[in-house]
Amino acid sequence: MDYIEFLGTGGTRTPTQGTTCVKVSPHCVIDAGNLINTFGDDVFTIEHIFLTHSHLDHIIDIPFLADLFVTQKAISLKIYGLKSTLDDLRQFIFNQRVWPNFEEISLIGHAEKTIELIEIEVEKPYYIDDVTLTAFKTNHTEGSCGYCIEKEGSGILFTADTYRCDRIWELLDANPHIHSLVIETSFPSSFEKLAYDSKHLTPALLEDELSHAKRRDFSVYVMHLKTLFAPQIIQELETLQLLRNGGRVLIDGDKIDFKV
Ligand SMILES: [Zn+2]
Ligand SMILES: [Zn+2]
Repeated sequence: MDYIEFLGTGGTRTPTQGTTCVKVSPHCVIDAGNLINTFGDDVFTIEHIFLTHSHLDHIIDIPFLADLFVTQKAISLKIYGLKSTLDDLRQFIFNQRVWPNFEEISLIGHAEKTIELIEIEVEKPYYIDDVTLTAFKTNHTEGSCGYCIEKEGSGILFTADTYRCDRIWELLDANPHIHSLVIETSFPSSFEKLAYDSKHLTPALLEDELSHAKRRDFSVYVMHLKTLFAPQIIQELETLQLLRNGGRVLIDGDKIDFKV
């Protein structure tokens, strides 16, 4: 793949829009907000899911995927995340109450378990297919992270959900090969208190945060708009001219090329 593909971009699930899910290679996605509806029969090609955090809109298809995999696959579904994200999956989802504990249930006819939860570290590269994923800490939940997605000398910085976060701008300034930033904007600027309380961005906050980067040459893509406010958020982003260098508000099915 010469691009990453946004299978889900919404901050809310609707009949026509999924939540955060990005295909970064033939067998790997970041977050699982919209896998089942977008993949069809090809869903069995997924082998690796890197998680940004454990909020429901980012993990919602994992239980259903495990349910499909247990009778159909010969190798475990590998789910990567920071420790608190994996702890949340164990404690609140795969706990034999909300859903079976697929970490202990073997694939039918095979020794391997249905899912494998793999703890990752921030600022350490992981190599999947021909893509490198490096997590960095974001400011959203205790265990939240974004990922720098790199291939053949080009990089795309994907923050997922975040409030103000200095590390984003440090990474962009230190890595000129990162040509695109994919960041969230969940609420209109008038909802600054709600944005702070829920650790999300508004257009006004994004404008201020963007000024923390010395670079001005990267493209700015925005996603995770709360659907009810989408027209207002888009108007504010355009008025403030934040969708720089060919960036745009992403919709499901959009792609960003590795090479620009
Ligand atoms: Zn979240
Ligand atoms: Zn979210």
